[in-house]
Amino acid sequence: MSRAATLPEIERDAPIPTYFKVGGRADRMARPATIEELQACLIAEPDLRVLGDGANLLVDDAGVSELVVKLDHPTFRGVEINESTGVVTAGGGADLAKLIHACVRTGLAGIEGLIGIPASLGGAAFMNAGGSYGQIADAVKSVAALNKQGEIVRIARENIAFAYRTSGLFDLVIIEVELQLTPGDPDAARNRLKEIMDQKARTQPLAAKTCGCVFRNPILRHDLEGIGKAHERVGAGLLIDRAGGKGLACGPCAVSERHANFIETSDGSTAADILCLIEKVQKLVQSRFDVHLETEVVVWRRTS
Ligand SMILES: Cc1cc2nc3c(=O)[nH]c(=O)nc-3n(C[C@H](O)[C@H](O)[C@H](O)COP(=O)(O)OP(=O)(O)OC[C@H]3O[C@@H](n4cnc5c(N)ncnc54)[C@H](O)[C@@H]3O)c2cc1C
Repeated sequence: MSRAATLPEIERDAPIPTYFKVGGRADRMARPATIEELQACLIAEPDLRVLGDGANLLVDDAGVSELVVKLDHPTFRGVEINESTGVVTAGGGADLAKLIHACVRTGLAGIEGLIGIPASLGGAAFMNAGGSYGQIADAVKSVAALNKQGEIVRIARENIAFAYRTSGLFDLVIIEVELQLTPGDPDAARNRLKEIMDQKARTQPLAAKTCGCVFRNPILRHDLEGIGKAHERVGAGLLIDRAGGKGLACGPCAVSERHANFIETSDGSTAADILCLIEKVQKLVQSRFDVHLETEVVVWRRTS
């Protein structure tokens, strides 16, 4: 592509919508309408930030100075389902929940376990979203992305370093994900969706403003009675709960009473409140169990 490709319109001082519903703004935001416009953004600013659905994101109150790109134009949200091969090709900006329902309707199984995870497909692939019902890595066939130079790269599943809540796909803008699904019984899949959603509604504060799990589930370095053995991955929520962290608060945001790995924000909460609470919880679990909790939520801070 020519270096003269036009930049999309740039919005100044743009809000960054996140599920926490707190945090600062983007000095500049772009919503490219074509791959060429996205390439132009990368060429102009290789260190830009990609905003997915904002479901796992905490933006510092001071906002960010880098260009933020949002792939919400139809160009990046298309979905193609090949019923006979089970291959589903969808844009990085496609809505994960809608995609799951479309696949279930067509009788293709493989991603229904991800229901209840709010995400763009690109964000889900980047984070390797998942949980006890499976992870997106299990269904990925390949990913197409733009690198920092704006070049298109396609990476096959076997070359992606998927692991617990990470894809290793750093420094890339995911524009398309190819999934390999398998023919299944739509009724069975629909029942599974319902079961999972019922289970989540019982155990998670779904109506609250949260980012899902704030902390990664740690691998224990030593046995913890009643919690787990050394080298096992255990629930961060269980550790926080056992340490007495439920209800801990900073300003108007608090550790959820329903699920201790969720932080709920209320009117008047700021990103600083959430960051303060994250630190409080980390200190509590460190002092009680000698375990360091790393954040799963991605934090954007102003760098200049
Ligand atoms: C109620 C609730 C429940 C949740 N439950 C779960 C759960 O069970 N399991 C789970 O794994 N997560 C869960 N989450 C967290 C969140 O849904 C996932 O992490 C999801 O994958 C985030 O996707 P997103 O599009 O919102 O990404 P964002 O939050 O917008 O961004 C997250 C990261 O992905 C990067 N990114 C986004 N899009 C792209 C792209 N196209 N290319 C490259 N990088 C990109 C961003 O730059 C950022 O670093 C939950 C969140 C909520 C609010």
